[in-house]
Amino acid sequence: MNAKCRGLWNLSGETTSTNPLRTRDTELTLAPHGPAPASVPNVGGTPGLRMNAQRKPVIEVRRSQRRRRTVSAYRDGERVVVLIPAQFSRAEEREWVDRMLERLDAREQRSRRSDAALHARASRLAARYLPEYPGAAHPASVRWVTNQNGRWGSCTPVDKTIRISHRVQEMPDWVIDYVLLHELAHLVVPSHSAEFWALVARYPKTERARGYLEGVSAAACLGMSDE
Ligand SMILES: [Zn+2]
Repeated sequence: MNAKCRGLWNLSGETTSTNPLRTRDTELTLAPHGPAPASVPNVGGTPGLRMNAQRKPVIEVRRSQRRRRTVSAYRDGERVVVLIPAQFSRAEEREWVDRMLERLDAREQRSRRSDAALHARASRLAARYLPEYPGAAHPASVRWVTNQNGRWGSCTPVDKTIRISHRVQEMPDWVIDYVLLHELAHLVVPSHSAEFWALVARYPKTERARGYLEGVSAAACLGMSDE
């Protein structure tokens, strides 16, 4: 086993091709007529509305005679309107509605996971779990980075900046929260001492999240050894 794979907090190697947790490809192409200029208008959805397997939105499909090769979808309140060419079969309709829902969901996830959203999330976590440490409550910056391959997150206590790897971006919210709280706790205790872990343990899903990250890291290493 690669020695670099052992650390709980370390992610070694390239995971992009082997990480089983990556989201599916949502490329929009209408075969066999070549690439379609499919579009997903960015119509602001209801803030906080989450689309997931438990909560299916109401779908309204509109068929258009003018549409030949484009499919688009947008959110209108609680509904999702999907515009498809009139000649689509029922099977094509089902397939494209599913694809467009995934695409909308992915777009909404991306905007939810902007740097500003990450910073706001960190502030909420600090207020909730580290309320007696004002130093943790106001990090100077919290942002996503793509140049951090060996760590899920990092923190510079002296200038109070926190960076979170883009590899965490697609993970569940409760894992992101753990990674954030870990770095926020470093603003209070820079080392991985018992005092540090006691702070991190205030977050109830700490052990579960560490196991999740360890599993992703191990899967990435196994994937690499296969090639
Ligand atoms: Zn740490």
